[in-house]
Parts: sequence; structure tokens; C-alpha cells
Amino acid sequence: MEPLESQVPFPVRFVHDAECAAELELWRDPELTDAIYLSLGEHLGGAIVSDGKIQRGRTGTFEYMTLEEGGRKCYCGKLGCVECYCSADALLREGESLESFFQLLRKDDLGYCRRWGMYLDWMAAALNNIHMVMDSVIVLGGHIAPYLTREDLARLFMAIQARTAFPESENFLRLGVQEQDAVAIGAAIPFVRSFLASI
Ligand SMILES: [Zn+2]
Repeated sequence: MEPLESQVPFPVRFVHDAECAAELELWRDPELTDAIYLSLGEHLGGAIVSDGKIQRGRTGTFEYMTLEEGGRKCYCGKLGCVECYCSADALLREGESLESFFQLLRKDDLGYCRRWGMYLDWMAAALNNIHMVMDSVIVLGGHIAPYLTREDLARLFMAIQARTAFPESENFLRLGVQEQDAVAIGAAIPFVRSFLASI
């Protein structure tokens, strides 16, 4: 950090991108005291909000949880990580974009419906595991989130309920704030908070 700080006339901090996006969630909804934030981007990321604060350090790295023993090869060098099943990278094939994927999905293209169904099944398995660790709402953000419909969330919740040892009646999944540049805005928030505390 120091070499960079010496080159720019500003304070410098390194913050995990998913934590930045979670900062924005907290800023927009100060009543979000306990939550899991999961960023469904090209790669996955996560953060844990506890007692109104984001947990720092190596927490919330849900993408490296093993979802399938001996499964798909992950960029981290291991096999079967959640990343390989639930990221946008895992959902899309070469040359596809999220926009083109969801266009065909919403036209009920059978192949896309099948792939989406498989994606949601893996996602339900991951979300169930995560929810077992912390009984809180799970906020879904990242690039995939704007494409998720109310029906998708209901379907995901039902798939989680089919797996879980502790069924619940109320859907604990929520969509995030879905603002452009959420990570960049979120990165600025701790600086804004310290400024506000200083006046
Ligand atoms: Zn991995």
C-alpha cells in the first residue's frame, strides 16, 4: 500500500470488491444489520454484514466453498468450487453475454431453460450451505442480479427449501440495489463515513 500511497496525493486502502458493493447495500439500507451479500458477477464474491458492519479480512469468500467433490476445475487450482457453478463465467458459454443468454431464456428456449435450471440447482445448493452458516437475509448483487425476476427468486427459494434441514416459510433472498458502478461507489463510502464523523 505504501508504494502506491507515495505516488498519489490521497489516502489509499485496499478493499475486496464484494465488500465495497456490500458497503453500498448498507448505505442504501441502514437497517440491514445482519446479512450475507453475494455478488453474482463474472466471478463470485461475498461479504458478511454483522451488527451493521462489514466483516473484514478473509471472510465471505463463499466462491471457494466446495460444491462438488472432484468437480469442475477452478481458477484457484482446486476442483468443484462454488465459483465454477454459480458465477456468470460458469453460466455463459464462449461468445455469449448475459443479455443474449437472458433474452433467449425468457423466450423459453429449451436449451437455455435447461441450463438455467441446472444453474439454479447449483445456486440453491450453495445458498442453502451459506444460510446454514448464518441465518440471515441473503442479498444477491452483481451483474446477474438485474436479470433475476421475482419468479427466479421464488424458484430458488423453493429449491433451497427442498434441500434444507430447516425449512422456512419466508423467502430470505433479496435483490441488491443494482446501481451502476456499485463497487466504485461502495469503495468511497468508508471515506465519506469517516469525513462525516469528523465534522
Ligand atoms: Zn476455486
